[in-house]
Amino acid sequence: MVVIMQNGATKADLDAVLARVEGFKLRGSVTVGESQNIIGIVGTPIPPQLQEMLESMSGVREVVRISRPYKLATREFHPRDTIVDVGGVMVGGGSAVVMAGPCAVESETQIMTVAHAIKKAGAHMLRGGAFKPRSSPYSFRGMGEEALKLMAKARAETGLPIVTEVMTPTDVALVGEYADLLQIGARNMQNYQLLEEVGRSHRPVLLKRGLSATFEEWMLSAEYIMNQGNHNVILCERGIRTFETATRNTMDLNAVALGKKRTHLPIIVDPSHGTGKWYLVAPLALAGLAAGADGLMIEVHPDPDKATSDGPQSLTLENFASLMPRINALAGVLHSV
Ligand code: PEP
Ligand code: MN
Repeated sequence: MVVIMQNGATKADLDAVLARVEGFKLRGSVTVGESQNIIGIVGTPIPPQLQEMLESMSGVREVVRISRPYKLATREFHPRDTIVDVGGVMVGGGSAVVMAGPCAVESETQIMTVAHAIKKAGAHMLRGGAFKPRSSPYSFRGMGEEALKLMAKARAETGLPIVTEVMTPTDVALVGEYADLLQIGARNMQNYQLLEEVGRSHRPVLLKRGLSATFEEWMLSAEYIMNQGNHNVILCERGIRTFETATRNTMDLNAVALGKKRTHLPIIVDPSHGTGKWYLVAPLALAGLAAGADGLMIEVHPDPDKATSDGPQSLTLENFASLMPRINALAGVLHSV
């Protein structure tokens, strides 16, 4: 349920509504708008008499029931785009933020080379895995904290904020010491304890869509994070499993366009995992932006043939550098209208 306050409602009106809501052991989350404030009510059960009760209060314009199971993430609750500040880089509201870097941090030379190259090409953030979720337990699973230290060094040298995955609730504090943006991987999208732990962190969160998750399940995972108080959530469409085997995954651009309608949270796309093939990354990156994405996550490696993970979908430094002007040109066209 959402309470839309009148233009001229006072702080006392707002506080009285919040107190009434709390009297029913529910919680009110206030969105401050340009002309009016909106209070989203979270919790259950919402008593049947509450709507009428709130409608009759001073300063209240309208009380609307929300039909969707996700509340804090829905646009009904928060009509304007959320813009998430990641170490000074603003994501959302039609941004075209590019996060690039290797699937996994492999060595100091590798991460520094990539960091400087992507910075020169115009990327805004550095990605790199320290804790890697691998389908096989025998595959390379990341350099752990050592990789986090190398990422922090790359940030110090380039000024690029860093995004890296956190896989377990007990690692959130450690990863949060280094990362500007905590990534929740596709395989962990429904690890609810992990979602709640990053929800209690002060770091923004990048929530990847699960391999077989519906749009609604994805939004409900965002809700788990937001319900703990952290509203700085960026969504990432990274391809889903379908009957198609010609590509690694199927990039669901419907979900991007639909997402812009249903949620106020920023959405980016990851055409590297979305396609699994380096030569499909550029077209799907551009398609993602055209569908409304607020940014991109792209895997880049100095020598993809020797990468410890995801080499076949990684761009070389040269290919990434030649993609950036195309991304910027398209972003210019999309945002000039
Ligand atoms: C990654 O970003 O390298 C990764 C493992 O992504 P996903 O969780 O989308 O598979
Ligand atoms: Mn990867």
